[in-house]
Amino acid sequence: MKRQIAILGSTGSIGTQALEVIEEHQDLYEVYCLTANNRVELLAQQAHKYHPAAVVVANEQRYDELKQLMSDLPDVKVYAGAKALDEIVEAGPIDMVLTAMVGFAGLSPTIHAIKANKTICLANKETLVVAGELICQLAQEHHAAILPVDSEHSAIFQSLVGEDLNPIDKILLTASGGPFRLKTMDELARVTKADALRHPTWDMGAKITIDSASMMNKGFEVIEAKWLFGVEAQQIQVLVHPQSIVHSAVQFQDGSVKAQLGVPDMRLPIQYAFSFPQRLPLSGDRLDLFKARSLEFFEPDLDKFQCLRMAYEAISQGGNMPCIVNAANEIVNRAFLEDRCSFLQMGDIIAKTMQRATYIKTPSYDDYLATDAEARRIANELLHA
Ligand code: NAD
Ligand code: MG
Repeated sequence: MKRQIAILGSTGSIGTQALEVIEEHQDLYEVYCLTANNRVELLAQQAHKYHPAAVVVANEQRYDELKQLMSDLPDVKVYAGAKALDEIVEAGPIDMVLTAMVGFAGLSPTIHAIKANKTICLANKETLVVAGELICQLAQEHHAAILPVDSEHSAIFQSLVGEDLNPIDKILLTASGGPFRLKTMDELARVTKADALRHPTWDMGAKITIDSASMMNKGFEVIEAKWLFGVEAQQIQVLVHPQSIVHSAVQFQDGSVKAQLGVPDMRLPIQYAFSFPQRLPLSGDRLDLFKARSLEFFEPDLDKFQCLRMAYEAISQGGNMPCIVNAANEIVNRAFLEDRCSFLQMGDIIAKTMQRATYIKTPSYDDYLATDAEARRIANELLHA
């Protein structure tokens, strides 16, 4: 029996690479459903190639167009809207749900998939940033496994295989440092979105590429690691490692450090999430340590990259604070991409939103929705002030 996979966000960077992995292992995996936000042409093209049972476009206004593009495949069900995403992940045949959509929109379908006992291959880190505690609690209740797709978290996960209950002393979370690693504050004040979109080692979607430039991405990954591996944020040390070869590491009580290394290629962590605990062949470049020559590690500059500092602050305050940071970040990230906000303004607006939004110590699901809306409103006001 082939494992049935639902891909949320199949038209994106992670989604398209996941389809490449599935294509290499058609004997093992089958696409049950494909979803996108807007790009119906690519979605329909993918559906013609992979013949899923269903396709969903989140933006309802694109439904007619998608329906038209799918008219020669009457067996494939076509749906639209956020609610349809929540429903499709519950479909009986689905074994695994790859959450490869971007942002807060990942929260609701991930919860639905967990409640339907699906295995979650988690790329959408925003879900754990926003509501890590709730997600972990639900996953435990419903015996739904959450397998990391983020390369650092996959590296940590791979380093933990065979360690059973051996406690983690410390997590070494590596970061490329992004395109602005060596810039001064003066230079940072003037960088453009084109500069930010030129990531030195990874080719990713626009939102996460901007988050990498500000290092908010690394801050989010600290929060993601806390929830995935049950450690305190203080046990997670960020190391700037410009070569992106050591994907992260774990230090144990005896001082031993285990790491996972490889070329920067997201297909590996995607495939490992699908095939765990097995490893499957994967075509592509191999790591050549002679070519790599030197592996460097530096402490991150938290004054220059205040987003990373704020993420640590948010997780230490806990409650809905990470949700506030995520919402404000989604607003300023988009604004920066649309030239409505400068690079350094992004951090300033997030800091002010953290001060102004209503803090809730033990938020419910509805509180997260309200927090997200309130923080977006505040960040937007600050943007226009
Ligand atoms: P992307 O922008 O390339 O693709 C995003 C996908 O999500 C698209 O298919 C889009 O149609 C869909 N989408 C966007 N908004 C949506 C909405 N409101 N509802 C439903 N679908 C929506 O992004 P990406 O780089 O592939 O990243 C996806 C997720 O994976 C993000 O959470 C990111 O942080 C995480 N991630 C990505 C990488 C990477 O290498 N790209 C690495 C680690 C983690
Ligand atoms: Mg990562």
